[in-house]
Amino acid sequence: MAKSLPVLPTTPQQAAHHQPPARRETRQIDVGGVAVGGGAPVSVQSMTTTQTHDVNATLQQIAALNAAGVDIVRVAVPRQEDADALAAIAAKSTVPVVSDIHFQWKYAMAAIDAGVAKVRINPGNIHKAGDTSKVKVIGDAARERGIPIRIGVNGGSLEKRLLVKHGGVTPEALVESAMDEVAILHDVGFGDIAISVKHSDPWVMIQTYRLLADQTDHPLHLGVTEAGPKGTGTLKSAVGIGTLLAEGIGDTIRVSLSADPVEEVKAGIGILESLHLRERGLDVVSCPSCGRAEVDVYTLAENVQKGLEGIDVPLRVAVMGCVVNGPGEAREADLGVAAGKGKGQILKKGEVLFTVAEDDIVETLVHFATEMADEIRAERGEGDPAVIA
Ligand code: SF4
Repeated sequence: MAKSLPVLPTTPQQAAHHQPPARRETRQIDVGGVAVGGGAPVSVQSMTTTQTHDVNATLQQIAALNAAGVDIVRVAVPRQEDADALAAIAAKSTVPVVSDIHFQWKYAMAAIDAGVAKVRINPGNIHKAGDTSKVKVIGDAARERGIPIRIGVNGGSLEKRLLVKHGGVTPEALVESAMDEVAILHDVGFGDIAISVKHSDPWVMIQTYRLLADQTDHPLHLGVTEAGPKGTGTLKSAVGIGTLLAEGIGDTIRVSLSADPVEEVKAGIGILESLHLRERGLDVVSCPSCGRAEVDVYTLAENVQKGLEGIDVPLRVAVMGCVVNGPGEAREADLGVAAGKGKGQILKKGEVLFTVAEDDIVETLVHFATEMADEIRAERGEGDPAVIA
């Protein structure tokens, strides 16, 4: 069934209401080439559910998230072996990788050394009461490498003193925790900071981010934490994240679901599209390639991108490095190729259509993409005016 498209404005008065909400002014940070804040498009994040030290499995999940349209991917680093795997993952991933660190400041240092695009730390557990030295060390290292840090506060791990001071997990307690950590990093001259103050209750989360937005110009990462399974989790996230974005608050988002993370990306993109904060154009995505790759994915993706230049409708084309997992990982893309030795399977909406010789891949994709683009334009009423009349 054809995807429903937004009703396009036909008068200037209607067009005025199709403008996205005005955005809060913030500083801008750079997450591995994806600008966050400072007027940049709101980016969509997700998190892998693999054991991070299983490099192939993690890269394969990143491939699926990329095909679904993710902008930034976070990986958990709970053990030394996960920290050890970061260099290989960061080098191969086709989207910026953020390392998620709790408790172990040394893993944050390892992640920075490994070349990740950003580090997330949680003030509630990264330093012992009163001793902020480790956060300063992380700030110094991040500055040297030119990567940002996200201060990610959540209700479940708030420092005891703040719980006592504010009478539990309140917006004031969450915001104070975040701003204390910002001050520690500012002390060492580090300002490339994004902040999140997630809560599992969307209404508390909304109030918390509003309070935070009044106190800082750092870009904000929005999310309802532990939102639940796909249905209720999407609903809570749409209310929490959507309300704030409609008020201009929020620069990057993650929908947290107890489900395949691809569902998080779909929900995140849906929220942005609902608010006219994202109008998709042509999007060529490629898998990071792992031990299974049988072709040079990067060169193939580049050639596909060149071949599709000029297509101006929402169309996602995935270039995957193997026929084993490529079709599954590309299932959210509109069109794709899963390339093998000397050949490529052409996919449409995740279904394999047929196999072509490697030399014919680009031409075949261009043919199908042009056909699909014409269909989309016709659906939008943008075809040949004579035909429409
Ligand atoms: Fe996935 Fe295959 Fe690419 Fe590896 S080479 S990331 S399995 S599509």
